[in-house]
Amino acid sequence: MDASSFSVQESTLTKVRTVAAELSGVAAAIDKGELYPEALMRRFGEAGAWASHLPLSGEANLSVAIESIAAMAERCGATGFLGWCQNALVWYLANTDNEALRDMYLSALASGKQLGGTGLSNPVKSFSGIEELKLKSRKVAGGYIVRGALPWVSNLGEDHILAAICEDQDVPGAAMMFVADCAAPDVQLTPCAPFLAMDGTATYSVRFRDSFIPDSMVLAQSAAPFVRKIRAGFILLQVGMAIGLIRDCIKLMLQVRDGLGHVNKYLEEQPEDIEEVLTALEKETAALAATPYDTSDDYWRHVLTLRLRAGEASVAAAHAAMLHSGARGYVMTHRAQRRLREAYFVAIVTPATKQLRKMLAEMPS
Ligand SMILES: Cc1cc2nc3c(=O)[nH]c(=O)nc-3n(C[C@H](O)[C@H](O)[C@H](O)COP(=O)(O)OP(=O)(O)OC[C@H]3O[C@@H](n4cnc5c(N)ncnc54)[C@H](O)[C@@H]3O)c2cc1C
Repeated sequence: MDASSFSVQESTLTKVRTVAAELSGVAAAIDKGELYPEALMRRFGEAGAWASHLPLSGEANLSVAIESIAAMAERCGATGFLGWCQNALVWYLANTDNEALRDMYLSALASGKQLGGTGLSNPVKSFSGIEELKLKSRKVAGGYIVRGALPWVSNLGEDHILAAICEDQDVPGAAMMFVADCAAPDVQLTPCAPFLAMDGTATYSVRFRDSFIPDSMVLAQSAAPFVRKIRAGFILLQVGMAIGLIRDCIKLMLQVRDGLGHVNKYLEEQPEDIEEVLTALEKETAALAATPYDTSDDYWRHVLTLRLRAGEASVAAAHAAMLHSGARGYVMTHRAQRRLREAYFVAIVTPATKQLRKMLAEMPS
């Protein structure tokens, strides 16, 4: 990275961190599901949080996007996840060969004028042989008719868009990736039952009722090679959620050291131990984030291993923060118990811990 692009990236991060500071005042409302931070999502866009990972001359660096998500997650895990949803969607648009679709949405998404989500959990599980693709399609003149439902897609609303993958009803395994407009009358959003920790994430079940998806909204006619191109970015951006959350867990432990250090010192995990894990995560993430188009097996194994460690380290850090905080951490308004609930989400959102272990177990050694 040359000096001028480095200072642009630094100034983006400063602006994103300034907006992220406002999350402290609303994190409790987001946690309770009283607020979907749509206005802040747009302001993060203005600050550059959704644009730093756009590829330039065939290369991209995800470090600032990951740090931006970390800045959000350090205050509020749900918003960190929303940041991932938005940045993943930008990543798909930035990598499509469909120029018209890119022109229609990319700059609006990257600047926060347009918001949207990604319904890729089901296909990501399906590519690992865990479940069937839930959306089916048939080709018609000028596009596709898509039918089926995705149980959970976040960062949605009537004026939002989402990316998804469907399988040709007549050709098993032939999958296409597309963008859908939530405002279309044949795309139905239904609010999900209340969630633990993630209730402010505007998460809906999305039903495609024989929805017409024009060719102009196709991200990739053949989803499999496209997913291979975007998969490392999809996963590495999630590590931002872990890094932010773990940073706050360390702060929580240090905050009680003066009053409780004389007894907390007997706990197995000390803030310094978690800090060591965090530093290693940060270093490896930055290294892998510099080459998201690496297609080697070795790189992919590293990405999966890092993502697995990120989920496990989040749960371990939040667990330690609870034990250090003691009774105060059990008060509903205290961050420690919110962090614990948020940490499990890092470990269960696709690719979940169990899927990552399956993928790694099945990789050639
Ligand atoms: C708050 C929240 C937000 C999410 N946001 C997104 C998103 O933006 N995009 C996205 O693609 N995925 C999203 N997901 C899904 C998530 O990524 C995981 O796929 C999901 O948590 C389950 O993953 P798993 O591998 O543990 O599967 P498991 O839980 O082991 O199995 C999942 C399968 O079980 C069935 N199932 C279990 N419970 C239910 C239920 N209540 N309703 C319907 N089916 C059920 C379904 O067949 C489902 O595919 C979200 C989940 C949650 C809880």
